[in-house]
Amino acid sequence: MDSVGGDHDVDREERRERRGRWGWSEEDLQENDRWTARIRELIRQVDGEIEEEEGGKKCDPATMAGLHVPAVGETREQDCAVCLEEFVDDGEGKLRMMPCSHSFHERCIFDWLSRDRRCPICRFAIKS
Ligand SMILES: [Zn+2]
Ligand SMILES: [Zn+2]
Repeated sequence: MDSVGGDHDVDREERRERRGRWGWSEEDLQENDRWTARIRELIRQVDGEIEEEEGGKKCDPATMAGLHVPAVGETREQDCAVCLEEFVDDGEGKLRMMPCSHSFHERCIFDWLSRDRRCPICRFAIKS
């Protein structure tokens, strides 16, 4: 990590020197640095909010338990996008439908949602 920080500083020094040659005053340079830092900070915040809003978070068990249980034949899909196995109407393999109307085996989608609450097919983030 030291070398990365080092390279970054060299970059910055070079940029300052070049802008100095373009006639930027020391004050302009400092103002520019402040803005760059501010914009980077804003981008970090927005990234954080998107992450918070769209996923990267697990779904809580109560929300999973409330997911619709479709019958085989009610689903748009013929197979489960998580395990790639076909939906079989054997009365055992329970299915669950996400609010985006994509369906999966219960065990597959529960396992998936316990790590990431976005639909494996369309990335729809389930609200907890
Ligand atoms: Zn499955
Ligand atoms: Zn979906």
